[in-house]
Order: sequence, then structure tokens, then C-alpha cells
Amino acid sequence: MANGQAAQPVTEPVHTRAPYWQDVPDEKWMDWRWQMSNRLNTVQELERVINLTDSERRALDSKGLFRVDITPYFVSLIDPDDPHCPIRKQVIPTDKELVPFQSMMEDSLAEDKHSPVPGLVHRYPDRVLMLVTTQCASYCRYCTRSRIVGDPTQTFSRKEFDDQIAYIERTPQIRDVLLSGGDPMVLAPKLLDMILARLRAIPHVEIIRIGSRVPVFLPMRVNAEFCDMVQKYHPFWLNIHVNHHKEITPELAAAMDRLTRAGVPVGNQSVLLAGVNDSVHLQRKLIHELVKIRVRPYYLYQCDLVEGSGHLRTTVSKGIEIMEGLRGHTSGYAIPTYVVDAPGGGGKIPVTPNYVLAQAPGKVVLRNFEGFITTYTEPTDYDPTEILAQEALIARRPEPGQEGITRLLAGEQMYIEPAGFAETRARGGSEHRLRSSDIAQKWQPLGVGAIDHAQERVALEAPKEE
Ligand code: SF4
Repeated sequence: MANGQAAQPVTEPVHTRAPYWQDVPDEKWMDWRWQMSNRLNTVQELERVINLTDSERRALDSKGLFRVDITPYFVSLIDPDDPHCPIRKQVIPTDKELVPFQSMMEDSLAEDKHSPVPGLVHRYPDRVLMLVTTQCASYCRYCTRSRIVGDPTQTFSRKEFDDQIAYIERTPQIRDVLLSGGDPMVLAPKLLDMILARLRAIPHVEIIRIGSRVPVFLPMRVNAEFCDMVQKYHPFWLNIHVNHHKEITPELAAAMDRLTRAGVPVGNQSVLLAGVNDSVHLQRKLIHELVKIRVRPYYLYQCDLVEGSGHLRTTVSKGIEIMEGLRGHTSGYAIPTYVVDAPGGGGKIPVTPNYVLAQAPGKVVLRNFEGFITTYTEPTDYDPTEILAQEALIARRPEPGQEGITRLLAGEQMYIEPAGFAETRARGGSEHRLRSSDIAQKWQPLGVGAIDHAQERVALEAPKEE
């Protein structure tokens, strides 16, 4: 602050609520447990506060639909008379949800394939996703995990938490643990505290994160008790999930103020949704409102190929158009990374407009957001080996089997081939002296693969003594 004084806390807001709850005392309205036990999920309950369309009524009355439950606070953000309200589209089903579409899947990110123990997804080299509950404060119609989320009889057990934590303990390459679900912030506070304490006790776990939509559905959960609890486990980070600027209420602003004062860095993940936020101008408004409440836009996700979400999907080109309208047009720290989470389980793939127009030895031709085209002249005397002495001073973090393209660039490998590549090309031909295995070195490129990480891998993959 210019005057040397800390900013005043954001004052507790006028409570956002639909007329139906005007007489509920503030203490109750601001009690997250009251909000959870007064959620709405039937046609009759929802019609007390909004005018449902025929399509919404049909969907709500149909069998086998992904769970519906909406907190009174969040439903109060819906325009009761506008069927196109962007808040409504996120939480109230329509019968379009029942329409199948090509490529839809139950587990489109193949998370269950990458789970060494139930509920723990180990997809990236140094971090894991720990699913701790199947319950949420409200349910998003495009939920990637709708296959497991919402069923109260199918949540994780203590034994499964033990197995997840035991895997993290015996896997030293994991430095970052992200708790998700479902939504970890609906867990009983004592249980969440216990899980965080056990993770913090693992020496190689550097960062603990929670991904949660509770601050958006239920900002009253981010109370002093929660902030005091998470402060014990720093470095602790939190990612919230806001898709539209109407979700940024005085209540959410006050919750983010409490969290950031507790030293928690907060990011935001959005999903690009048709009719909700698929607009350059709405995305600009969203990210500007986020940074005003000290939340850093982190990811903008392409909607996954998940059952029920067909009508909310956009094209990838719409995402690229949005990124074109952000980069350069506003502050860099306000711009999220646009990603497609790879169908089939490859993880997040960043997608950007193309700014590199041409390359030749010594020159790169680039363009900026306005179409200004420039040339960057590269040095002719650059020595990329000069840094190696410094690099040798720090421990390398091996990425067993997941080095990917970096391994090619490091000269440790010359090519990556799909599984079965060599066999397919052999086409069942008989062995011939010209391609016999004892002269395999004829395919060994000189100087490539000089660093052998096989030993590193063996050491890392070997299970530790229990
Ligand atoms: S809060 Fe997250 S896990 Fe829960 S329904 Fe929404 S997207 Fe799915």
C-alpha cells in the first residue's frame, strides 16, 4: 500500500439470495451446513425460485440423469425468467443432456486406467491427483467425473485413503499432490484436516493443492476455521472454478480475501461452454473480474467428451479465437492457458494461436496480436553447453518413461515410435542376415543416447521396503 497500511478486509456483503429465502436469518444463510442441507433438486423445489422450461422439466423428471443438487446461494444467482442465463445452464439439466454424441465416453480422460490404487490418478511424472470424495456442493452438467461423482453410496473409504497415501509415501518422484473429487471442501472438516496432515508429513511432498468449486457454490465454507486449518499446511494452493463473471459475487470476493490473507495462492480453472462463456468479450470480463479479487486465471479447458455434455461443447477453433482475443489485449498474468485434456488419457495439451510465422538458421519471424510482423535475429555464437556446469550442481529429477520430446531434444534418444511400429513394418517376413539382431548396432545413431537413464529408472521404480 502506498500509505504503508494493509488493505482493509473485504466487508461481509449483502447476502445474495432469491426472494424465497428473504426471511432466513443471516446466521443460517451464511452457515455452509444449512446451505448443504437445503439444496434443491426436484422440479417442485426449483420452481419455488425459477421458472423452468419444458425441456428442463423433462430432464429433471427423467431417470438415470447425472445428479442434480444446487445450493440456495447458487440458485439465487440464476435469472428466474431467462432460459439462456449462463448460471442456469451450468447446473440445471435440459433434455439435450440425454442426447448421445459421437466420441462421448464415460471416462474420457482414462483416469481409471492411470490409477495405481483406487482414486489416485498418477498421469504426470511428478504429481498425482487424489480423489477424496464423490460428493460436491452442487453438480455441474458437464462434469468430467460424472461417472463417479454424485452417488452418495460410492464414496471413498478410510482404507482407500490409506492406500492412496501409502502409494504417495513410497513414490518419491511425487512432489505435488492435488486433492479433488468430487469436491474435497465438502468433506467433514476433521477428515480433510487429517488427510492434509498426513500428506504434509511426507518429506518429498512439496506442494499440496485443492481443486474446488465450493468457494463458488458455497463461499460461506471458506470461513475462518477453514483458513486457519489450511494455513498449517503451507505451501498450500487452491484452484477455484468460475466460468462466468456473474459467479463473482461479494460473497466470493470476501471468501477470496480471507483465503489470500491466509497466504493461499488462488488460481481459477474455467471450462469453455457453449452459451455460457464462449465469447472473447465475456472471457475478458471474467478474467478481469477474477484478478480484481486476487484470483489468477490458470486454465481454460476445452469441454471434455463426457456423456451428457454434448450441447455445452464448442469447437477448438472457438477456444483459439478467444486466446487470440486475450493475448496482447490484456495483462499477461490475467490470461489462462487454454488446454484440451487429451481424450484417451494423454493429459493437458496447451493450444495457442500460432505466433511463429517462419524460421531459418539465425532468424525467427514472429507476429504479435496486432499483426505486426518482426524478425528475431538469433546469436551465431550461442553455446548451449555453457550452462552444463551449473546444471550439474542440482539434482536432476528423473521422469521415468515420461521424458517424451525433451529426451529427443537432449540427444538421449533419436525417435519415438508407436507401440508395435517395428513389428508392423516387418510384415511377418522371415529373419534375414541383413536385418538380423546381431548387427542391431547399425541403427545406433552416433552420440545419441550417451546418457543412460535406465539405471535411474530402475532405482525409482523399485518399490521401497515397507
Ligand atoms: S464441482 Fe467439479 S467434480 Fe463436482 S460436479 Fe462440478 S465439475 Fe464435477
